Amino acid sequence: MLIHNKIFNSGVVGAGGAGFPAHIKANSKVEFVLANGAECEPLIHKDYELMLHFSKEICQGLELLIESTSAKKGFFGIKEKNAKVISAISKHLNGKTELTKLGDFYPSGDEYELVYEATKRLIPPAGIPLDIGCVVNNVETLYNIALAEEETPVTRKFICVAGSVRKPSSFFVPVGTSFKDVIEFAGGSKISEFGIFVGGVMMGHLTFDLNEVVTKTTAGIIVLPKDHYLIKRKNQPEQNWHRIGKSACDQCSYCTEFCPRYLLGYQVEPHKVMRSLGFTKTGASVWNQMAELCCSCGLCTLYACPEDLYPKEACDKAKVEMREAGIKFIQQKPVKVHPIKEGRRVPLPQLIMKLKLQDYDVEAPFNSEKLFVNKVRIPLQQHIGKPAKPIVKKGEVVEEGQMIGKVPDGELGANIHASISGKVKEVTAESISIES
Ligand code: SF4
Ligand code: SF4
Repeated sequence: MLIHNKIFNSGVVGAGGAGFPAHIKANSKVEFVLANGAECEPLIHKDYELMLHFSKEICQGLELLIESTSAKKGFFGIKEKNAKVISAISKHLNGKTELTKLGDFYPSGDEYELVYEATKRLIPPAGIPLDIGCVVNNVETLYNIALAEEETPVTRKFICVAGSVRKPSSFFVPVGTSFKDVIEFAGGSKISEFGIFVGGVMMGHLTFDLNEVVTKTTAGIIVLPKDHYLIKRKNQPEQNWHRIGKSACDQCSYCTEFCPRYLLGYQVEPHKVMRSLGFTKTGASVWNQMAELCCSCGLCTLYACPEDLYPKEACDKAKVEMREAGIKFIQQKPVKVHPIKEGRRVPLPQLIMKLKLQDYDVEAPFNSEKLFVNKVRIPLQQHIGKPAKPIVKKGEVVEEGQMIGKVPDGELGANIHASISGKVKEVTAESISIES
C-alpha cells in the first residue's frame, strides 16, 4: 500500500497546528520537505523531548515523505541552542536533508518564517507552502507517519504539561484523556485556583474546564494561578478588549513594527485594524483588511503594545467580519522582507520575562511511564475538514487502535481510532466516549 494511503488510514494529522490531514501533503509533488522542530511557544518542550528520544522515527517519517513527494531535498529546522537534539537528529539524517539552525526567537516555528529561513522562498500572501514547492510537517507528525508505515494508527498524543504543576514533564497520553487526568499524571497542580492554557500561552486558548480532553493537536497544557497576569489579561470579556482599545490606542504602531508577518513583507498592520474599532465597519474601509494575513501569533497583544491593548484580538474579529461580508483581501504590493526584520526579532527569554513566566521556565523531561485511563472522550473533529462519521454504536466493545470514526466519502478529513480498549458509552454528534 502506498504511504499516503497508510497515512490516511491511520488518521495522521498535523500535530503541531490546526490538524491538516497529512495524507494530502504526502500525496503531493514538491521540491522541498521541511521538518519543523522549531518549537517556540514559551514553556512547551514536547518537540524537544520527542526529538531527543525518538529521533530515528522522526527521521524515518521525513524520509518517507521525501520519497512520496519526490522532493529533491529536505530541511530540518531546529533551534541552534538545542545542541543535544541536533546531535541526536544528525545521526539519522541521510545526505538529502540539511539542518536549518534557527535562532531562539518567537515565532520561529511559524511556517512562513521557517520556509523563508530554510529556502529563502516567500509563500505568496494567503498562500500555503505547496504554492512554492514545499511541504512542512511538525516533528510529531513525522513520528506518526513512521508509525503509519507500520499501519499503527494515531491513538496517543505526545504532550507537555508545564506551569504550576509538581512535575513538569512530557509524555504520551491516549487521545481523549481529560485534562484532570493529565494534570494528575504531572504530579497535580500546586495550587487550587488555576486556569489552563491549551496549546500555549501565545496561540492557545484559556480554559477552566478540567473535563476538556487532549486531541491529536494538543501540544501542551500550561497551568497558571488564576491571578496570574496572563490569565487576567486573557480572561477579560471580549467587549472590554474592543472598548478599551477604542479609547486607549494612541496609534503608536508598535504592534505593526513588531509583527513578524509585517516584517516578512506581508501587508499586516494591526495598528490600522485598531482604527476600525473606532471609525469603520468592515466593507467601507481597507483597515480591517490589514488583518487578513495575520497568523494570530499574539506578539502584538502580549509583547509589543505598551498600553496592554488587544490588537491580535482586533485582527481576529476583523477576519471574521471580512469573511461574513465576503471580502477577500488581495495584497497589492510584492512581498519583500523588511530591511529591519532581523533587528526586530523577539528573543524567547525576553518574551518569557514580559509574560511574567520566568518562574515556570523549567525543563519538561520525557516520562516514559504509561498513563492508564479508564475513560476517554474522543472528538470527531480534531482536524481541518469534515468531522469523522461514527462507525460504532453505544454498547459495542472496541479494541485500542480500532477505527471508530471514518472520513465521510469524498471529503477532506481524518479517521479516528479508539485510544483505549473498552465499551462505547456514548456516541454524540461531537464525540465518542469509551470506558474500560
Ligand atoms: S501598539 Fe497598542 S497603542 Fe500602539 S497602535 Fe498598537 S494597539 Fe495601539
Ligand atoms: S497576532 Fe499581531 S503580531 Fe502576530 S501576525 Fe497577527 S497582527 Fe502580527
